Amino acid sequence: MNVYDGQRIAAMLRARGMNQTENIPDADIIILNTCAVRAKATDKVFSALGRIRLEKKPNALFGIVGCVARESGAEAFRRVPELNFVLGPQSYHKLPEILENPDTKLFNIDLGGLEKFDEMPQPDTSPALAYIPIQEGCNHCCTYCIVPYTRGREISRPFDDVIRDVTHAAKTGAIEICFLGQNVNGYKYTSPDGHIYRLSDLIGTTAKLDTIKRIRFTSSYPTEMTDDLIDAFRTEPKLLPFLNMPIQSGSQNVLTKMNRPYTLNLYIDIVDKLKNARPDIQISSDFIVGFPGETDSDFEQTLDIARRIKYINSFSFKYSPRPHTAAALMPNQIPEKIKSERLTKLDTLLNEIQRNFNESLVGKTLPCMLEGPDKTGRHLVYRTPYMQPCITDTPHDAPAPQLANIKFTAANKASLRGKIVK
Ligand code: SF4
Repeated sequence: MNVYDGQRIAAMLRARGMNQTENIPDADIIILNTCAVRAKATDKVFSALGRIRLEKKPNALFGIVGCVARESGAEAFRRVPELNFVLGPQSYHKLPEILENPDTKLFNIDLGGLEKFDEMPQPDTSPALAYIPIQEGCNHCCTYCIVPYTRGREISRPFDDVIRDVTHAAKTGAIEICFLGQNVNGYKYTSPDGHIYRLSDLIGTTAKLDTIKRIRFTSSYPTEMTDDLIDAFRTEPKLLPFLNMPIQSGSQNVLTKMNRPYTLNLYIDIVDKLKNARPDIQISSDFIVGFPGETDSDFEQTLDIARRIKYINSFSFKYSPRPHTAAALMPNQIPEKIKSERLTKLDTLLNEIQRNFNESLVGKTLPCMLEGPDKTGRHLVYRTPYMQPCITDTPHDAPAPQLANIKFTAANKASLRGKIVK
């Protein structure tokens, strides 16, 4: 979501004649687009602001947008008095106001719903992978999560508006569409004539566009994985065989305390249905270890579910108490040392599963999407349908198709090696 927001902010400023720079001393305006999901991310924002304050041109404007702005509110100006603007995740379209009145302080952390989507210009060109948000906010209220506070209640965008954005992206360069939402599979829009549109309708309509070759969506909530959506994996070949569906914990006890009211059996049933619809599908998850009250036995159950589902491309974190959340006030907070030990164990297991999966692809051929040069700048990297990077033997400056069949020749836990085949 933050990548998308950053692209829209850049497009908005480009439309006003500005160019992008990564070099802080060159910049006339410096924007930190922020994430508040963990305390560490928030701390990093304020230490970065301290550095930028010393590095920037004296008259350059600087400020924060996104969830840390909403979380910190006016307190951000007290901590860093030189800040020019603090704009929440639903008010960053107001950023140009600071260019018109650079001597004022711009502050807006209101939850304005969908207004920003209508107010910002469409970019002239789209990246090959276009992120298309289809909703804002979340109604689930997991007890550890600050998102319902920073992004508000869940609102689905009108179906026609989403398809307008998809069509624009397809006409201006996109070949892959990734639908975004905190609870993306809960997308539900009722049109004025009473028709209810779901995510499966967005996928079906998008798949009809010839230039769009790959479709995916993130992040999914287990109980919103309805039969029509599972069926889309059976019927729509452009939908990639990869799904991020966070389980967070393998312990029923912890899931209840997290206010994630699904049973492990239900979750496993959904995965079975997905595998039945699309046998090559792989599942990714987010995990939180060290949630308040998590016992050794609860944690072992998380390892068990990771082994059973064989998650790939997953994200694991130590529980981090956040303001405005119920879990931050729960008793039996877990000491840092235990959280760190559990995280190391889980990461070791997830890395092993990932390496096994990557190695299972060696010798196979899959259609992959061009991403750009590798870190050394010598060869081209493609992205598999399962989102692993594959470093090819094609030189970075050779003509190469955006979508290519890649035969995998080697693998490790982080990436694959391969060559383009006809
Ligand atoms: S479903 Fe996701 S975004 Fe919504 S409250 Fe839970 S963790 Fe946060």
